[in-house]
Amino acid sequence: MREFPLPDIPADGALLRVEVAGICGTDVKMYDKPRIAEPVIMGHENVGTIVRAGPDFARRKGFGEGDRVFVEHYVPCLACEWCHLGEYRHCAATDWRSNPDARRYGYTSADNPYHLWGGFAGYLYLPWNAVLHRVPADLPMELAGIVTPLSNGIEWALFDCGVGYDSRVLVQGPGQQGLSQVVACKQAGASQIIVTGTARDAARLALAVELGADHVIDVEAEDVRTRVADLTGGRGVDVVLDCTAGAGTAPVVLGIEVLKRRGGTILIQGEMDAFPDFPVKLMTEKGITMRSARGHSYRSCELAIAQLAAGRFPLEKLTTHTFGIDEVPAAIRSVGGQEGQDVVHVSVLPWGKA
Ligand SMILES: [Zn+2]
Ligand SMILES: [Zn+2]
Repeated sequence: MREFPLPDIPADGALLRVEVAGICGTDVKMYDKPRIAEPVIMGHENVGTIVRAGPDFARRKGFGEGDRVFVEHYVPCLACEWCHLGEYRHCAATDWRSNPDARRYGYTSADNPYHLWGGFAGYLYLPWNAVLHRVPADLPMELAGIVTPLSNGIEWALFDCGVGYDSRVLVQGPGQQGLSQVVACKQAGASQIIVTGTARDAARLALAVELGADHVIDVEAEDVRTRVADLTGGRGVDVVLDCTAGAGTAPVVLGIEVLKRRGGTILIQGEMDAFPDFPVKLMTEKGITMRSARGHSYRSCELAIAQLAAGRFPLEKLTTHTFGIDEVPAAIRSVGGQEGQDVVHVSVLPWGKA
């Protein structure tokens, strides 16, 4: 634990009191093997209330003290081509992988001015170029903590892979990300949603059905290729969404095989550096489009918040665990499967449930 003085807020900055900070699989990897040498306050899925706002910040952003907001982890320049296109998640100013001076919540050194660049803390600093979304005052805090996985579901399934009316979809992995894809696909009108998992995932697979999956497959007990062929009348699926963690190359190979004869789409995460024996011939013969899972857009965040506010799905069943600010290591371990049972989504509540 470290303490920093509350920063002096400039005219174009603001201070957020963090209410809930969600944890995802990236946190597990970054905590295990930090990629940034300096101290980093992790926590990149943040919701809270603005408690101090400089006059320029309030005028420029339309947000002021007392507003409850979801803060995207991107802190873009808002001047480059990507930013003008609205695709600020690709802006170099927030790309910590290629730019050592980048700003991104949860990935930025606390040695930088204002220090408070992560959500596992009582407060977060908001510069003029933070990207904010309004969160309804009556949305329970745990639900507010899952805006990010839900927005990824909308971005990847609907916008990247074109899932819509009558789509047949295979979602691999029933974790928070896979289940969020199920919700997005269901709402968009997919006619067949198939979710794979292992015996360990029994509770999560049952939850997938509650959220709208039509079929679930235990990959250890059944042959996925045969099952998907049976379920789709031999046709195969239109879209495969790989939301597995640590499963290596097998889910991608399987996904390419169970896609329809021509013109399917597969979304991949790319955990591994290399892909030996990649089936490039089969992929090109089937005319498959491969999309990369790369975060969310402004629109998908707005839709995720609307989804949460609508209460159309029992999304509270995703929010399985919360931890205090002094329990962050345990919270991260539970997301990584080293602790706790039937974990789906975990949040840190820096000030508790009050
Ligand atoms: Zn994340
Ligand atoms: Zn930019």
